[in-house]
Amino acid sequence: MKELSKIASKIKESSTLSVKQKANLLKASGVNVVNFTTGELDFDTPDYIKDACKNALDNGDTKYTATNGTLALRKAICSKLKNENGLTYEPENIVVSNGAKHSLFNIMSTLLNKGDEVILIAPFWLSYQVCVEAVEGVIKVVHTTVENNFLFTSEDLEKVVSDKTKAIIINSPNNPTGAVYNKELLMMVGDFAKKYDLYIISDEIYEKIIYNGSHISIGTFDEDIFNRTILVNGLSKSHSMTGWRIGYTASNKEIATIINNFQSHTTSAPNTLAQTSSVTALLEEDDSLRKFLEVLKERRQLVCDLFSSNKKINFSKPDGAFYVLIKVTDFFGMTIEGKTISTASDVAEILIDKYRVAVVPCEDFCTKEYFRISFTCSIEEIKEGISRISQMYDDYL
Ligand code: PLP
Repeated sequence: MKELSKIASKIKESSTLSVKQKANLLKASGVNVVNFTTGELDFDTPDYIKDACKNALDNGDTKYTATNGTLALRKAICSKLKNENGLTYEPENIVVSNGAKHSLFNIMSTLLNKGDEVILIAPFWLSYQVCVEAVEGVIKVVHTTVENNFLFTSEDLEKVVSDKTKAIIINSPNNPTGAVYNKELLMMVGDFAKKYDLYIISDEIYEKIIYNGSHISIGTFDEDIFNRTILVNGLSKSHSMTGWRIGYTASNKEIATIINNFQSHTTSAPNTLAQTSSVTALLEEDDSLRKFLEVLKERRQLVCDLFSSNKKINFSKPDGAFYVLIKVTDFFGMTIEGKTISTASDVAEILIDKYRVAVVPCEDFCTKEYFRISFTCSIEEIKEGISRISQMYDDYL
């Protein structure tokens, strides 16, 4: 048989999904595993959104829609962007897709030619790299560390920019670091993008989940930055709607048209029922989001208190999102259970095999020095899981 696509064959399954599967298999066989791998809220989608879906079904809302989404949904997104983010878009600027991940693939397919470079701030959400490389783009990485609160400077950006650089991806609040970028940092990114004529891809999917600081959309700074920014957002994290698969881009019309044309031949519009429900989700918000945030705040505090109580654990207090990164370099060079530890995956393997805690090692997030936990589980699970992680530190450090 002839060789399959080199690009597609190189892509590995998302490591966040594979660790989760291992944890699920162990759980199914009766093992008591604490699962800290989940990248989604553990809350049900609010009732007012589910009711809208039931009504839409009863009303026969079951046909194709315009590729870029229903006008009602694109209008609702425009109102949201105006009222919450201070950004003025028309429905023609919006393309609704099957989740923000799909939006990101659309963007890369629209922006990049072979060899074009995209700047990523590491540790970064693993799919950014795949969607750049899937269209033969090249990633250029700026590394950040827990010691610098996972922030970066213009000097860091200057070191990786070249005449092939086409875009920079920013993600605030950030998965996996929990960093929330302030106005000064975002203005620096905007000036940098203007200086080198770059597109800015601003992934704002965690904007509602902030504990410290506030969310700023980079496109609000000036018209030039607005025009070169492609904002990505969706309802997965804000409305606990991961399975509904609704994401969107807001961009200038030229880009929106190309994304629309591309999507018209790949997936067409997303699921019609999910689109209709999303209109209600955006326009008729109840206080579910506030309640989600209350619970998350309490969990974040608990996680930070528990990790802080073991001085051997080097972790970052997240300002946003629902993840914590833990640095594991102190284990490097040690031999544990007959294995020499040199990566976060080695540590994660011991955590699941010996301590029965599933965490996400961050190699696919472009660092082998950290693992990630998600606090999308109960208070009891958080207490139990962190006590098991802490035990490993006490056993070996
Ligand atoms: N962007 C970031 C930073 C994410 O963490 C995720 C999901 O985990 C997405 C985008 C994709 O979200 P969606 O479910 O809308 O595809």
